[in-house]
Amino acid sequence: MLLLKNIEWVIQDATAMKKNCDILIDGNRIAEIGGSLTVEKSHEVEVIDCSGLIAVPGFVNSHTHLYQCLLRGIRDDLPLEPWCQEVTLPFYSKVRKLERVGDISRIAYIWSALASIEAIRSGTTCIFDNDYISNGVMEAWADSGMRGVMAIGFADQGLSPELTEETGYTKATILKTIKKWHNPNSRITCAIMPPTPYLCSKDALTWMKNVAEDYGLVIQTHLSETRSEAKTMLEAFGEPGAMYLDRLGLLGPRFSAVHCVHLLPGEAELLAERGVSMVYNPKSNMKLGSGVAPIRKFVDLGINIALATDGPASNDLLDMFEEMRAAALIQKAVCENPAALTARTAFHMATAGGAKVCGIDSGTLVKGKLADIVLLSQRTSNITPFNDPVETIVYCAKESNVRTVIIDGQIVMRDGVIHTIDEVHALDEAQRLWSEMVAGTEPPFMEARKLPSSE
Ligand SMILES: [Zn+2]
Repeated sequence: MLLLKNIEWVIQDATAMKKNCDILIDGNRIAEIGGSLTVEKSHEVEVIDCSGLIAVPGFVNSHTHLYQCLLRGIRDDLPLEPWCQEVTLPFYSKVRKLERVGDISRIAYIWSALASIEAIRSGTTCIFDNDYISNGVMEAWADSGMRGVMAIGFADQGLSPELTEETGYTKATILKTIKKWHNPNSRITCAIMPPTPYLCSKDALTWMKNVAEDYGLVIQTHLSETRSEAKTMLEAFGEPGAMYLDRLGLLGPRFSAVHCVHLLPGEAELLAERGVSMVYNPKSNMKLGSGVAPIRKFVDLGINIALATDGPASNDLLDMFEEMRAAALIQKAVCENPAALTARTAFHMATAGGAKVCGIDSGTLVKGKLADIVLLSQRTSNITPFNDPVETIVYCAKESNVRTVIIDGQIVMRDGVIHTIDEVHALDEAQRLWSEMVAGTEPPFMEARKLPSSE
């Protein structure tokens, strides 16, 4: 048992909070929250003094691509499709080539370890990752103490052959991965993710839907991130993407649609009717110039919204403090209405909204929930005095406020020190592996660039 004593504030969710109380953790669940909690002498308990600390639910990053941890700080001047051609697909293709001649699990382990370190340090306790199927990703989660959802799926049309595998082989790999790693009673689960509807045949989408149903998995896809993507789907299907997915039976409460920046008339209403969640990625949408999702409208339709960073190549961080801030500020600006998206709504999206998308029983600090808890220091200049707790956390708090992180009842970082994984070693190895991968090549993103002319 773990007893967190004398917590200054417990932010239970976006609207409920308690002052001066304790949290008792039994195994991986919250056993009690209240004032002056004690434990019978017969129980073994570790007591941690949390004076001056604020407890919040761990943040949930509901959509990312962790391999992009190796691709930060590259090309901030391209929209989605050419950006994929220039930045992510060449790397994707390179890793696939390496995979065909050997094992990439160590590289995958390192990008997942980098992500876990950054996430833990910035208060994230659950990551929903999509793309590479490699045991290395989950092994790093197992070692670091991170809670992770590995979202796997495949595209079978519209991609060059070096980016895809034979469909039978891919299906077998997906099933093998689910059988090996999906365990709803553990920190690691799997999800199904068709990358985007227009890159998947009807057969592929139906197969993935059936697998999700068979194994009780959540299912997610990118949907209408750009205007051209929405147009492509309309031309290919003869109807908008959401209507097409609905006709194939994919939409439902376990389904989440990522981006939804350029939905066509009637799509949002249909998604709301089917109980679909949406995943909002404000920083990535801004960096790629994709636009701004009409989140206010989605909230008014009663749609559950989660918050996410998307991949680090288009963000360039995995920091949910930044994401909450960006989420609220950009909606206020584009709606010309400061009430368009409040701190409370952003906080809800980053916690309970995300937990629903990931299919995990966390996101709030209440008795019986999973013990995914972040303790923030209140004794710093950026949040002193500590006025409205949720507004102060959303607009003022930073990674440097995160002191201690508990995931699944286990302390993974205590007083700013990660105990589960060797941080320095992971950083050194990431640098070494990356240098080896780009050795002898001049990556296109390393070209000298000119400042835009003012003429
Ligand atoms: Zn994405």
